[in-house]
Amino acid sequence: MFSREAPTGACSLYNQDMILESFPVGPIACNCIIMGDEETREALVIDPGDEVSRINRRFTELGLKLKQILVTHAHLDHIGGAVRLKKLTGAPIYLNENDIDLLGMADSQAAWMGIPVPETALPDEGLDDGQVVGLERYPATVMHTPGHTQGSVCLYFAPEKLLISGDTLFAGSIGRTDLPGGNYEQIMKSLHTRVMTLPDETRVLTGHGPSTVIGDERRNNPFLRPRQ
Ligand SMILES: [Zn+2]
Repeated sequence: MFSREAPTGACSLYNQDMILESFPVGPIACNCIIMGDEETREALVIDPGDEVSRINRRFTELGLKLKQILVTHAHLDHIGGAVRLKKLTGAPIYLNENDIDLLGMADSQAAWMGIPVPETALPDEGLDDGQVVGLERYPATVMHTPGHTQGSVCLYFAPEKLLISGDTLFAGSIGRTDLPGGNYEQIMKSLHTRVMTLPDETRVLTGHGPSTVIGDERRNNPFLRPRQ
């Protein structure tokens, strides 16, 4: 993977024919991820929390057609732009059904985040554990990893050794569990029994902040050190 020209503030990562860009959107700086196939020009977006016109412009610039809007969980900083992006592109929205209740709390979420209430709508498709989503040449397996929210998922692109972790795992930290739907025991179980069973070399694009690698988190993440 190597970098090439990308929008300001973005990291652009290419693996052969894969277009992969991650850039922060909105006041809470959720990392929005665009993945595309250079050959078929089909693409997916993960967590279009805000700045929908910027995201859509990037699809136009890259000549990509959006096929799926995948949302790791229903916090507004991750899902806030999904409906607007669907209206612009026609792409269906995917969300784990265990976050439907949280999606219904858009007003209170917006109040605690200090952001305007975005338009929301029920997802078109679920994101169930073990379900395969993504592009034909770049499939991802859904890992249901509750704890940050009840419907939090990670997306594992096994051939690419790439994990999209949402707000479950961060570089040096883990997702908070003090918001409605959060559960500390659950996120620790999700991390220890699912996320941290992935190979050390797995690259992780997180929901906020820098990317990381599973092996680095295994060694250095203070929340994941073996309990004494
Ligand atoms: Zn969140």
